Amino acid sequence: MARRKKIYEGKAKILYEGPEPGTIVQYFKDDATAFNAQKKDVIEGKGVLNNRLSEFFMTGLNNIGVPTHFLKRLNMREQLVRACEIVPLEIIVRNFAAGSLASRLGIEEGTPLPRPIVEYCYKDDKLGDPLVTEEHIAAFGWASQQDMDDILSLALRVNDYLSGLMYGVGIKLVDFKIEIGRVYDGDFQRLIVADEISPDSMRLWDIESGQKLDKDVFRRDLGSLTDAYTEVAKRLGVMPKQATHVAKPKLIN
Ligand code: C5P
Repeated sequence: MARRKKIYEGKAKILYEGPEPGTIVQYFKDDATAFNAQKKDVIEGKGVLNNRLSEFFMTGLNNIGVPTHFLKRLNMREQLVRACEIVPLEIIVRNFAAGSLASRLGIEEGTPLPRPIVEYCYKDDKLGDPLVTEEHIAAFGWASQQDMDDILSLALRVNDYLSGLMYGVGIKLVDFKIEIGRVYDGDFQRLIVADEISPDSMRLWDIESGQKLDKDVFRRDLGSLTDAYTEVAKRLGVMPKQATHVAKPKLIN
């Protein structure tokens, strides 16, 4: 059998050419990185959890009419997605102050924001994904004004959807990051949610205890990352509430 073609390998995923033109296979690795890959580890099972969780969020978004690149899950670690041209921006939406916003502006973590704040970072690992303004985005041609209007609207719809979903299972959506892709339908360009949506790219706090259930567990050495992600998956019904492993069959004589 011919080896499939690797298109790109990132910090947490590998992209392979898909079975049909215009499709891509997205493979979720167990690698965890933080602080622009200065902190690295392999967390067994993380890729499997993120594949399932990203499928869950993207399917929900597709169902409420927010277009995403997700087509179908193929197996434990892989999903089929629509090929798209990634807009070189990370779109961050914040509901509560945390992380870089809290330190940049000197606001205490957890402070509710007066309204969701949307920020843009230029996707460039060598530069550490710097925060940019719409002036930079327009001047350097990374996205048009129409694109920016569409991106803002997509980001806020994703925020509403995810906030409600999380609230329903006792979790506060503090902030998250999405990426946007361009697809072409004939002569028309459309923007869709791409990449992944998982606890790797969100901040999720238990509403009652404030316990962190996201990648900050790894960034800040707060315990087991897979336990945190499994808790999110269980609450959302993505994984069975009881055992998350398959029991070994008993031998009967
Ligand atoms: O670090 P910061 O506070 O700016 O992160 C805001 C949100 O965006 C967090 O949920 C974080 O996980 C996510 N993020 C990400 N990838 C990056 C930067 C931030 O997923 N490169």
